[in-house]
Amino acid sequence: MTLFDSPAFEGHEGVHSFFDEKTGLKTIIAVHSTARGPAAGGCRMWPYASAEAALEDALRLSRAMSYKNAMADLELGGGKAVIIGDSRTMKTPALFEAFGRAVDALGGRYWTAEDVGVSPSDLASARKQTRFVAGLEGHPAASGDPSPVTAEGIFRGVRLSVRRALKRDLDGVTVAIQGVGHVGGFLAEKLHAAGAKLILTDVNEAALAAVAERTGAQIVAPGEIFDTEADVFAPCALGGAINQETLPRLRAKVVAGGANNQLADPEIGRALFEMGVLYAPDYVINGGGIINVAGEIRALERGEAFDPSWVDAKLVKLTQTLEEVLDRAIAEGRPTHEVANEMAKARIAQAAAEKLAA
Ligand code: NAD
Repeated sequence: MTLFDSPAFEGHEGVHSFFDEKTGLKTIIAVHSTARGPAAGGCRMWPYASAEAALEDALRLSRAMSYKNAMADLELGGGKAVIIGDSRTMKTPALFEAFGRAVDALGGRYWTAEDVGVSPSDLASARKQTRFVAGLEGHPAASGDPSPVTAEGIFRGVRLSVRRALKRDLDGVTVAIQGVGHVGGFLAEKLHAAGAKLILTDVNEAALAAVAERTGAQIVAPGEIFDTEADVFAPCALGGAINQETLPRLRAKVVAGGANNQLADPEIGRALFEMGVLYAPDYVINGGGIINVAGEIRALERGEAFDPSWVDAKLVKLTQTLEEVLDRAIAEGRPTHEVANEMAKARIAQAAAEKLAA
């Protein structure tokens, strides 16, 4: 398969590969769209089995960032970087400096940030070679941990989805949360404070026990979370939680949570719809994290301090956008993920047309 035939290619503006002989850096930076602004998306370091696998991942993730940034109403396009290598054994400051030079070579068309396998200290090394880095620590523009903002957006999204699907408020509603890490832990506390009953699971037993104690929650084993009598299922662990195996086991009438790529494939979204389950599209409901990062990019560009009130205003808009997705899906009798994809594409196309006309 060539690059242009890949199903994930979908109109990428640019795909850039860089090799640095001295450090062994192999990176691919995919820029899906700059129609709404510079492409923004994290850098993932992963021991990909082949360059083709790395390319596929970069393309898939960068297109997803275009959609996510558009739905979060950010003046940012979508891009993503992948570094081929094992983050546990191959990381050096020099490797990330070389990555910084690669980012800089794109002249601001791509802003990088954290993703799997990359930490703020790695980004600090990259920052020595380029200014197009967000997710740094210890400066006035720094946005800090995005998880509380992500969790607040998800909390509002769960409340909205419950109102739409169950015609009630959160008080007394049972929510099953898969994964109580950064996002799931904050979400559990917010839902508990709103009167929801919680069923929690995590493979990290110590973290699970701590969150359950704070929230008076019931604990179940990781494999049992899909079989619980919950009104809402909130996937907050890894991708692919809703798949052919777990789908028939779900009792919930709402799926709304923080994890990226919750649906194993788009057909699962249609199956959820046909089962009468309201699904809050993952990349819309979890947009709080990228809004927080966008707040840092904005502050860096303006030479100002990070402004939490700007982030709050965007978060309000994010919930309004989710409302539009849910309402359109209900009114048109269509799956929510199809409506969200259509809206994201339309927002990107409109920005591209405006740019061309300017
Ligand atoms: P995290 O690593 O802090 O938490 C994930 C939790 O899931 C961990 O406690 C882990 O032990 C648990 N887990 C892993 N596999 C599990 C399994 N099979 N069953 C039950 N629990 C399992 O990560 P996070 O930052 O909380 O992110 C959670 C999800 O939300 C990820 O998919 C991430 O991509 C997505 N997300 C996070 C943010 C953010 O701001 N952190 C923003 C957008 C999307």
